[in-house]
Amino acid sequence: MQNEHLNSKKEKIPRTKISEQKPEERIKNFNEVELGYTEEEAVRESMRCLMCKKPKCIEGCPVNIDIKSFIAYIKNKEFEKALEKIREKNALPGVCGRVCPQEDQCEKTCILGIKDQPVAIGKLERFAADYEKNKNYVKNYKPNNSDEVNNFIKANKITNSNIESIRFNNIKVAVIGAGPAGLTCSGELAKMGYKVTLFEALHSPGGVLVYGIPEFRLPKKIVNDEVEYVKSLGVEIKLNTIIGKTFTIDELFSKGYKSVFIATGAGLPYFLGIKGENLNGVYSANEYLTRVNLMKAYLFPEWDTPIKKADIVSVIGGGNVALDSARTALRLGAKKVKLIYRRSEAEMPGRIEEIKHAKEEGVEMVYLTNPLEIIGENGWVKKIKCIRMQLGEPDESGRRRPLPITNSEHEIDTDIIVIAIGQGPNPVLTQTSPDIMLNKKGNIVTDAVGKTSKKGVFAGGDIVTGAATVILAMGAGKIVANAIDEYIKTGIW
Ligand code: FAD
Ligand code: SF4
Repeated sequence: MQNEHLNSKKEKIPRTKISEQKPEERIKNFNEVELGYTEEEAVRESMRCLMCKKPKCIEGCPVNIDIKSFIAYIKNKEFEKALEKIREKNALPGVCGRVCPQEDQCEKTCILGIKDQPVAIGKLERFAADYEKNKNYVKNYKPNNSDEVNNFIKANKITNSNIESIRFNNIKVAVIGAGPAGLTCSGELAKMGYKVTLFEALHSPGGVLVYGIPEFRLPKKIVNDEVEYVKSLGVEIKLNTIIGKTFTIDELFSKGYKSVFIATGAGLPYFLGIKGENLNGVYSANEYLTRVNLMKAYLFPEWDTPIKKADIVSVIGGGNVALDSARTALRLGAKKVKLIYRRSEAEMPGRIEEIKHAKEEGVEMVYLTNPLEIIGENGWVKKIKCIRMQLGEPDESGRRRPLPITNSEHEIDTDIIVIAIGQGPNPVLTQTSPDIMLNKKGNIVTDAVGKTSKKGVFAGGDIVTGAATVILAMGAGKIVANAIDEYIKTGIW
């Protein structure tokens, strides 16, 4: 009865707020900030969906999830079916529901957003993924071969038609890099029947999802469960294997792999190139976050990971990486965290929600300020010399160009500095495959479906686009999986 009432006035229902840990509490722990919808809240939010005949939101999602259908399932309390619907297009819903910039994607094109706030598509996606965690049928499942997978599917009565239809064809494909692009491509190829081996340099799969994005935004358990799902499709993951060192790409071909997908991401940090950057106490965000996440400094005091716990921390940059570093520093006990950004808030590339969270937690935003030099004492960082900026005409990125204001130099006290101004491609693999064409920045050049200049080798995700987003990397993984299938079937390059 209540549902009918809500249905008839669905555009009037306000967007359902998600519960969060309070800012003063959450900066003392690394637990997730947002607590997720309850069943009741998810159903209520799903009722806001207008069930458009031609839903625009689906076009806004880079992997074209059938958003209207999965929301309809949530409305009917058929939560498992909602997840199955999402998984037809997205193998990592718990991740994407949490970290996708929905405001620029699916929610941006939601019709309800014209007059009101859009449906909380990402939060509903997260709900569907989290609901299944109670069932956990893929947890701890480590198949050795295709027979095991098929027996597992039967024994667990998995109804997802994609999984049921797996028929392994014994054609081997190698995927390099277990981040979102590599995991997605592997999952898609496994569903088509290929024998996929996913090679990962680190001791843990997930890419940036495990070594970059902090626990309070994306718990490791969520990533691990979604990796288990990909494994349950029959993908074999080989960790601690650096392609370019352990094997070259040509060696993979000689081992019988018919095609190779490079998804090695953008893991090489950029530096400012200013005096003083080699002082003690200057970290790249990559190193800082890796120490906290992969090397488990977030589990202090049980883990005694070496990382300097400082009173005053300055983070340079304005994207998600800078925001994650600043909020991590607070949780490690910093008394003052400054985020120094050369443009204004309007130009910040970080997600709106994360900017809001950082401000609530007390991160001090120092806009229109650019570092000129790092000043040290006894080998350690002491201050940053900065200059004030003003905004000029838009540059090639479309954002207004920051220009220095003469005679505005000043110094900012700090104990450590975290530099988060971007990352580029790691050259380890490409140096050993000179026949793969790169652009000036060292990114791999591909055509629209991910074909590189080397026959049988595809690439996608951050290694092609430069640092971008999880869902764009996943979208690339999906496109490449179809292209590999076509290449193997037709032999046409
Ligand atoms: P990656 O995730 O980088 O994975 C590449 C993998 O390849 C890594 O595991 C690496 O170890 C492995 N590898 C590298 N070289 C080799 C080799 N030679 N052999 C074997 N393995 C190799 N995006 C969002 O959408 N929302 C966010 O909120 C967000 N926040 C972010 C926060 C941080 C701190 C960072 C760093 C990035 C963030 N991003 C966010 C960006 C997003 O994480 C990336 O765009 C995405 O992970 C790219 O996926 P990928 O698969 O291309 O590469
Ligand atoms: Fe939106 Fe990302 Fe989910 Fe697509 S994957 S529906 S963009 S939250």
